[in-house]
Amino acid sequence: MIRAARMVLPIVLLLAAFASGQTGSPSVAPSSNSGATQSFDVKAAVDAYLAKMPAAERARSDAYFEGGYWMLLWDFLVSVFVMWLLLRFRWSNGMRNLAERITRFRPLQTALYWIQFIVVTSVLTFPLTVYEGYLREHKYGLLNQTFGLWFRDQMVGLAVGLVLGAVLMVPLFGLVRRLGKTWWVWGAALMIVFFAFVGLISPVYIAPLFNQYKTLEDAKVKDPILSMARANGIPATNVYEVDASRQSNRVSANVNGFASTLRISLNDNLLNRCTLPEIETTMGHEMGHYVLNHAYKGLVMIGVVIVIGFAFLNWGVSFALVRWGERWDIRGITDVAILPLAVIVFSLFFFLATPVTNTITRTMEFEADMYGLNAAQQPDGEANVDLLLGEYRKMDPGPIEEFIFYDHPSGRTRITAAMLWKAEHPERALPEEVARPMFQNRVTNPGEI
Ligand SMILES: [Zn+2]
Repeated sequence: MIRAARMVLPIVLLLAAFASGQTGSPSVAPSSNSGATQSFDVKAAVDAYLAKMPAAERARSDAYFEGGYWMLLWDFLVSVFVMWLLLRFRWSNGMRNLAERITRFRPLQTALYWIQFIVVTSVLTFPLTVYEGYLREHKYGLLNQTFGLWFRDQMVGLAVGLVLGAVLMVPLFGLVRRLGKTWWVWGAALMIVFFAFVGLISPVYIAPLFNQYKTLEDAKVKDPILSMARANGIPATNVYEVDASRQSNRVSANVNGFASTLRISLNDNLLNRCTLPEIETTMGHEMGHYVLNHAYKGLVMIGVVIVIGFAFLNWGVSFALVRWGERWDIRGITDVAILPLAVIVFSLFFFLATPVTNTITRTMEFEADMYGLNAAQQPDGEANVDLLLGEYRKMDPGPIEEFIFYDHPSGRTRITAAMLWKAEHPERALPEEVARPMFQNRVTNPGEI
């Protein structure tokens, strides 16, 4: 979503990552010698769950997810290349000159530059966007949309990026012009406030542009969920259903919003494909995000990364200006034409910081998993949902791979946590969940576009 904005503002990606959380984790080692586990072999139970995933399904998921590691690199390289084009051929200062000819009012100049910038970069990166967001997703059977519908979502995303980007860029360059050397500290603060602002308006003004949200109505599902919500001190009206099937078959749920707009949403794929114990454990997880205040803690932790990022930005931009500023005809850090350079430096920072930002979200996701296990008490339901998430997330990575690339815990990590919990609560075992085949209702045609 909002892919155009993502290419130019890696930050928006971070926002999306922590605003639409789902489940995460540091690794847990199964221990076989604690008192209650003697009659239950955790490792064997985990392996039995993993074996429920057919080999072909596993191979597809692994290929998709590992391909995503390369996409991370390609996104970075293509973004840098496009920004370099803008600098090298002076398109950036051409856009600035045009903005200056249209108006003498500097905030408006910044906004006009931004509009040209996001349109030009979106066009130049469009082939990669189509490959990554449309062709590749279809190849792995993860997208339901025709090209027309998909393209419509891209255009909406571009419009959102255009407006939100201007909301950020105009005051940011205003700060740079007024505050001189300390601009980067205030710039970081502004960015953090911007995040909170986008989080606040997202459920009400942005998410409905892409999907329909309505309150959950089915009493068979709603009643147990509302019961669990009351037991966990959560306002009952905060449970929504979203038509995620408009885009894909992915099973998911999330907590989004900020402060007064914070809400829990279940997607319709989850409701259609999962049993009540599976839905309950997912809701328990989302309630964990809510009760543990992950939206605020995430903002603080990502905020620290942003401050460091701005310090790096300040250094990197000064470094490059001394060397190439004249050749690119950039007047200094107060000149909006510097934006492509700033994107290069910022992209480099967040590319290198990927394991850090992933670990921040993965750790909160694992906390939410533990909360969900205790709230819903459905370890077998949890393990089955973890298998479904394995349709788009490699189930069984190595520990370093998980540390670097996973913004949620891997399937093995999560199922292990569920089985450790089950070992201590044998009365909560559900044999029908253990026996339930999970990949029979896969409705996509891999390879078909
Ligand atoms: Zn989560």
